[in-house]
Amino acid sequence: NRRILLNARPHGAPKPTDFRLEETEVPTPGKGEVLLRTLYLSLDPYMRGRMSEGPSYAPPVELNAVMVGGTVSRVEQSRHPDYSEGDLVLGYSGWQDYAVSDGTGLVRLDSGMERPSLALGVLGMPGFTAYMGLLDIGRPQPGETVAVAASTGAVGSVVGQIAKLKGCRVVGIAGGAEKCSVAVEELGFDACIDHRADDLNEQLAAVCPDGIDVYFENVGGRVFDAVLPLLNAKARVPLCGLIAHYNDTELPPGPDRLPLLTKTLLTKRIKMQGFIIFDDYAPRYPEFAAEMTEWVKAGKVRVREDMVQGLENAPEAFIGLLEGRNNGKLVIRVADP
Ligand code: NDP
Repeated sequence: NRRILLNARPHGAPKPTDFRLEETEVPTPGKGEVLLRTLYLSLDPYMRGRMSEGPSYAPPVELNAVMVGGTVSRVEQSRHPDYSEGDLVLGYSGWQDYAVSDGTGLVRLDSGMERPSLALGVLGMPGFTAYMGLLDIGRPQPGETVAVAASTGAVGSVVGQIAKLKGCRVVGIAGGAEKCSVAVEELGFDACIDHRADDLNEQLAAVCPDGIDVYFENVGGRVFDAVLPLLNAKARVPLCGLIAHYNDTELPPGPDRLPLLTKTLLTKRIKMQGFIIFDDYAPRYPEFAAEMTEWVKAGKVRVREDMVQGLENAPEAFIGLLEGRNNGKLVIRVADP
């Protein structure tokens, strides 16, 4: 049983030595428990927060404890009345080959599911985040302009595609020409701008001639600086993530832009609202799952998945996620399904 532990708390960007791989015996399930074999491990930006101490919406991973993470697993042994060997479950086993569970928090997946890994992406937490953040907070109306950053990633790719389904003009912001072409050619966005361009502000303004009505915030940093002057009166800003800042060790240098932000919010009567998906929206999961499953089946929402082989590659893949090296929802294939 291989497991990846938090070896040290990163200062700034995580390094390979902040993780440690160890081998242990495969655990034995007790009465009322199941032994789970991890098939797929989800890697997500929130894990960076769990590696650090300090106040957040969830407690940190302890040093020398297994890194947390959502998983799709197969029941290998069952001493639990509700589960049988071979069942597929969505759970929270973390970065390891095997885990024992008493069933708490497990969600059974359809064992005939063609691509069970999608339960970690478009049909799971990131898809749910895109759906609720955009539809409940962003409230896009036909003809409006919706902008989304990290626009080819797990959340952003779904946000943009839902906005298209709602009749909006969709502008993506992504890292590099290749991702921008994916956003336009594969995902059907109307335009996409490379956030590394020197003239980001000018390019973004050029593709938003009518301003921005909904900005789905995944990133922060210079992307938000470019978006802020383009926000229209009564714009909505679902504040989902700030990945450009997750490795920050102090406030960024430069002038204090808080007065500019608050003045813009006030004079344009903009609504900016943060949300934490399951804390805020758990009861609406079934509604999301039903509609998104239909959209994916009908090809109305296209899936972007970046599958990396082998648990041992999880640290490097996670480091890459914080640098934009992933192409779509990042998933580790831990064992053959
Ligand atoms: P992605 O699949 O989008 O992967 C992360 C992407 O972020 C990278 O590919 C990269 O895209 C971009 N990125 C990374 N570093 C930077 C940087 N310094 N500056 C600009 N862009 C950067 O991840 P997710 O879709 O899973 O997550 C997107 C956001 O949503 C994150 O901020 C995450 O924390 C948040 N989130 C929030 C939830 C909530 O409940 N509030 C739930 C789930 C996610 P690119 O190369 O295009 O720049």
